[in-house]
Amino acid sequence: MNDVTYNGLTFEPFITREQIGERIQQLAKDIKRDCQGKLPLFLCVLNGAFAFASDLFRAVDMDAEISFLRLKSYESMASTGVIKEVLGLNEDIKGRTVIVVEDIVDTGHTIKNVIDTLKAKEPAEIKIATLLFKPEALKHDVKPDYVAFEIPPKFIIGYGLDLDGLARNLPDIYVLKEEKKD
Ligand code: IMP
Ligand code: MG
Repeated sequence: MNDVTYNGLTFEPFITREQIGERIQQLAKDIKRDCQGKLPLFLCVLNGAFAFASDLFRAVDMDAEISFLRLKSYESMASTGVIKEVLGLNEDIKGRTVIVVEDIVDTGHTIKNVIDTLKAKEPAEIKIATLLFKPEALKHDVKPDYVAFEIPPKFIIGYGLDLDGLARNLPDIYVLKEEKKD
């Protein structure tokens, strides 16, 4: 695989589509095991989680439902910490098992906000599934239940993750290349 360039920044291959697929199969099994006898509602946090949620949802071999929530916390490459809920949840989640599907848990601002918003609607339980988790960047007391990959606090694009709206359609995941100092 080759490096890719967006907005003058170079990114190198980091996680392949095959590796992503393997982890999704495993997470799908874990979710099925944990949700026996329940009808889980997958809640995809748009935009970034659309690719992961689509693949994970189809890999889970049980009855399940999916809905979508749209928030925005990021301007370019730095977290603003300000969450704007753009598109709300219409489903009644009272008493339900909700699986929030995120692309990445970075500082945790976004997922914390989602959890607090959902808790007010009295679900039976809230679980978090995330494609990527940067534990070193975490600033909140939240712990994802299903993590495909733990990664260092570097900037990632591809498979749903963007740089200013670009690169979401890359089938693999790329990491920002460190500048070599000589
Ligand atoms: P948090 O609120 O700081 O945890 O950030 C979560 C959101 O920021 C994610 O849903 C992403 O949309 C975005 N984000 C965090 N890290 C990255 C990254 O490395 N690449 C692209 N987007 C990111
Ligand atoms: Mg996102």
